[in-house]
Amino acid sequence: GGAAEPPPKLVLDLERLSQVPSEKAGPLQRYAATIQSQRGDYNGKVLSIRQDDLRTLAVIYDQSPSVLTEQLIGWGVLDADARRAVQHEES
Ligand code: C2E
Ligand code: C2E
Repeated sequence: GGAAEPPPKLVLDLERLSQVPSEKAGPLQRYAATIQSQRGDYNGKVLSIRQDDLRTLAVIYDQSPSVLTEQLIGWGVLDADARRAVQHEES
């Protein structure tokens, strides 16, 4: 892609998210459920979230956005492509 390419979207895999134990994923599960409810979007297998939401979640998890992103990729909740979104965000 070219230099003007937009950052990749942050797309949560809701099926994988529901399979992560809630001791770990509880805050993210509640956050995603709130966004679904605000959008009136209950049937999706995926949920696109805002770049700002990842920053908010990093505060909730007391981690940097890049460390949180790695954790979510490890859970299979975010695609590896999400790394570029965070690089974009932190550059
Ligand atoms: P809002 O932020 O005032 O956005 C109003 C409407 O603008 C949204 O209604 C949506 O139709 C549109 N909109 C705003 N930003 C975007 C965007 O980045 N992409 C797209 N495709 N549309 C956008 P909607 O979806 O019914 O959401 C209602 C309210 O729920 C929003 O009001 C906001 O307060 C909250 N919300 C929804 N999704 C999110 C989210 O992913 N993160 C956060 N932090 N809040 C959200
Ligand atoms: P998208 O709809 O393709 O929007 C891509 C980017 O365009 C957004 O990235 C945001 O920077 C900008 N954008 C789009 N619509 C609006 C708007 O109404 N107001 C403002 N201020 N900016 C807008 P962002 O914020 O990272 O969101 C990523 C994706 O998350 C969006 O892709 C959309 O799929 C979803 N999303 C975010 N907020 C909402 C929302 O309120 N409602 C819905 N339905 N989807 C949302």
